[in-house]
Amino acid sequence: MSEKQTEEQLELDLELVDRVEANVVYEEDEPVLYEVVNHVAWVTLNRPQLHNAQNSQMLYALDDAFQAAVNDDAVKVVVLRSNGKHFSQGHDIGTPGRDFELPMERRLMWYDHTNKPGAEKAFAREQEVYLGFCKRWRLMPKPTIAQVHKGCIAGGLMLAWICDLIVASDDAFFQDPVLTMGFPGVEYFAHAHEMNVRRAKEFLFLGERMTAQRAYEVGMINRVVPREGLEAEVRAMAEKIAKQPRLGLALTKQACNHIEDLQGKTTGVDAVFGYHHFAHAQNSLVKGDYIAGHDLASMARENKKKES
Ligand code: ZN
Repeated sequence: MSEKQTEEQLELDLELVDRVEANVVYEEDEPVLYEVVNHVAWVTLNRPQLHNAQNSQMLYALDDAFQAAVNDDAVKVVVLRSNGKHFSQGHDIGTPGRDFELPMERRLMWYDHTNKPGAEKAFAREQEVYLGFCKRWRLMPKPTIAQVHKGCIAGGLMLAWICDLIVASDDAFFQDPVLTMGFPGVEYFAHAHEMNVRRAKEFLFLGERMTAQRAYEVGMINRVVPREGLEAEVRAMAEKIAKQPRLGLALTKQACNHIEDLQGKTTGVDAVFGYHHFAHAQNSLVKGDYIAGHDLASMARENKKKES
């Protein structure tokens, strides 16, 4: 066999496909900002022009920021907030900076997705950037607070939900509209732990916006405050928590997370991830596209319809 034939055989054996030529234009060099003030790490999503659509560039930068906060002994509490009009409009499914086709340096025990065929491609990618990262971030040994304003939509929920506390402004709203694309919710299926099952069904079936006040009433968030007082409220809360002993905080967080897991949280999230990817595969088979032909604009139109 010639060298070329051997190579071809190897490719066949490894079930690989050619990478798609990616034409990615990042509009921000720093999609996540990081600073530490008074023992609090302020982690800021920073794709304001695109309402903090989450591309891989942002999610890997977020992983870096969280790791930096965990590594820094001067940091006791981590706040996650956003620049721009909305907290986050969800995963990036259609900006010039959508980098789905770019290989990234992996952080978890999953292989690169970009040269994998069929349904394996999204499955391998989402094992890391969506499911894996969320599970990893939830386990940070320091308390985390999500500071949410305006839209917290789809993938935006995932970032708020992995935090220990959620403080929202009175203009915030929460929404998971991805049933429109055929999915049983976003990749991190914590819905039925963030609210009771009957409310989770309503939230998912209707895909409507949930106001901050309603989110407070169903127990999904800790506090609702006027928009102008949001940051001050979070700062006061974070700096007060920062005065508690480090290990005591870590143990308390682990204790609460452990009880959630006794209630089946992680097992449920893992199981529904399989359903989510069955829906991706079904979309590819029936609609010829793994997200049913939608992009940010078409989803925004569909979401507006749900409010009328
Ligand atoms: Zn997905």
